[in-house]
Amino acid sequence: KGHHKPNELIHLRKEALEEARRFKEVAHRIEEAILDNSLELNFQPIYSFEKNRITSLEVLSRLKDGKHNYINPEYFIHVAEINHTIIQLSRQMFEKTCRFAVDNNIFDRGINDMNINISPIQCQDKHLVQDLKKIAAKYGIPFERFHFEITESRLTDEKAVRETLTKLKENGAKIALDDFGTGYSNIASIMLMPIDFVKIDKSLLWSYASGDNEFLNELMPMIRGEGKKIIAEGIETEEHIEILRRMGGDFLQGYYYSKPLNEENFIRFLDARNNG
Ligand code: C2E
Ligand code: CA
Ligand code: CA
Ligand code: CA
Repeated sequence: KGHHKPNELIHLRKEALEEARRFKEVAHRIEEAILDNSLELNFQPIYSFEKNRITSLEVLSRLKDGKHNYINPEYFIHVAEINHTIIQLSRQMFEKTCRFAVDNNIFDRGINDMNINISPIQCQDKHLVQDLKKIAAKYGIPFERFHFEITESRLTDEKAVRETLTKLKENGAKIALDDFGTGYSNIASIMLMPIDFVKIDKSLLWSYASGDNEFLNELMPMIRGEGKKIIAEGIETEEHIEILRRMGGDFLQGYYYSKPLNEENFIRFLDARNNG
């Protein structure tokens, strides 16, 4: 234990080098996207049990590498968080979301609100809320239309996050705690953070559905007891829908309804689904 054979060491060094190269390339692609405004967006529909239609969507960023392959979003967001380019990248994402909403009149097509991911790193940016408000106002979109999804992490500066979330809410937006049930986010944060929605992570739903844990049984009533609405992601089957119906979920998102779609395909999907 604790020692490597020489050829293993070479292998490890090679991997570290590959990893560093990939990191640099992705960081470079992020810089380029910021400069040439080339970040792409996908939109994934969110279904409302109460309304029995698609009432919302989540905006998901997409970025290609030098070989025109899409980079894993979790990876490029991670890179952007490390070098703080997430602040400019997210501003572009938000502005493009507003333009998408206005260009397609999505609030006349049954959409009530849009879910936007924000990183805890952005909460350290003192201008964040003012900047977002200014962009929304420029497109004439009421700030109430935005629901911001935030994931806690070990590195989170809790005070900055709480202050930013409070400011977003004071301006009429709503907050969803993302990735709930995956390690860092805990029950206490439901009580401590000013949140309106809890977004159950897909891994939790899937492990419940396959009988690997019963956690969801206790979790759901607790969240509802705190007066929070529940969004479930990773809905892939009718069985998943049944679980959420039984437990009292409010909003569902997943491949069962649709994968994340580009602008054109999202609008086509929405019109077929809500008015077809
Ligand atoms: P997330 O916020 O938890 O987003 C949900 C992820 O689950 C998305 O992955 C979505 O495509 C995927 N998903 C939704 N339903 C299903 C399903 O039924 N089955 C399966 N297998 N997957 C499903 P995606 O698009 O790869 O994004 C990964 C993560 O990247 C996001 O996780 C989010 O943390 C981050 N991300 C993406 N865009 C942005 C952004 O603009 N800003 C920030 N801060 N983070 C972003
Ligand atoms: Ca999210
Ligand atoms: Ca999530
Ligand atoms: Ca996630």
